[in-house]
Amino acid sequence: MLLPHEVDAVGRLRVPEAGDPLRILVSACLLGRPCAVDGTDSGMGGALGDLLDLPTVRVIPFCPEHHGLGTPRGMPDIHGGDGRDVLDGRAVVRDEHGNDLTAGMLAGAAAMLAVARQHAVELAILVDMSAACGSQVISDGGRLVAERRYRRGVGVATALLLRHGVPVVSQRDHRTLGRLRERLQPGFVADPGARDHHETDWYRGYFGAGT
Ligand code: SF4
Repeated sequence: MLLPHEVDAVGRLRVPEAGDPLRILVSACLLGRPCAVDGTDSGMGGALGDLLDLPTVRVIPFCPEHHGLGTPRGMPDIHGGDGRDVLDGRAVVRDEHGNDLTAGMLAGAAAMLAVARQHAVELAILVDMSAACGSQVISDGGRLVAERRYRRGVGVATALLLRHGVPVVSQRDHRTLGRLRERLQPGFVADPGARDHHETDWYRGYFGAGT
């Protein structure tokens, strides 16, 4: 299996208590913040249900693209690789007009890592398919085209967090999020049929079964 993120990271997290909640860095749009490219939350608000309201959770929200590029902004997508390649200078980030947004994306990622360190975050839950926050799938080149293409990979901010030891889970990794909730909420029983993004029919159909 060729996965960009670490499947079992949640299993190594401590079991928190209300007086010492798990410190979770969260894509700000997942909290309904209007930080997406068009100045909305891109429909992400509430995607995690009441998971973040548990007393065993302390939420640290951040939007790396807003920090590095402002809002509203062009649509950033990675050309020539994924976020790890951007960090290493092998790929660039461009918007739909061809403007090079690489420097702003790197600045946003660095700021997100600084916040993670400041709050000693233990886990990040980020929005998949984002050029900054993606952790399983990103666009392969610009997405605002007639036929959008995808690649397995991580966004720029995710790449930097992973490189510095912060585990990242996406809002689409329902099986992992269920396991997380079992750690956060005594007595909670996760849906045994829930699947992570890489286990979905779409993922397997697009990238091939067994990937
Ligand atoms: S960069 Fe991340 S936090 Fe910001 S809008 Fe995109 S997915 Fe949400």
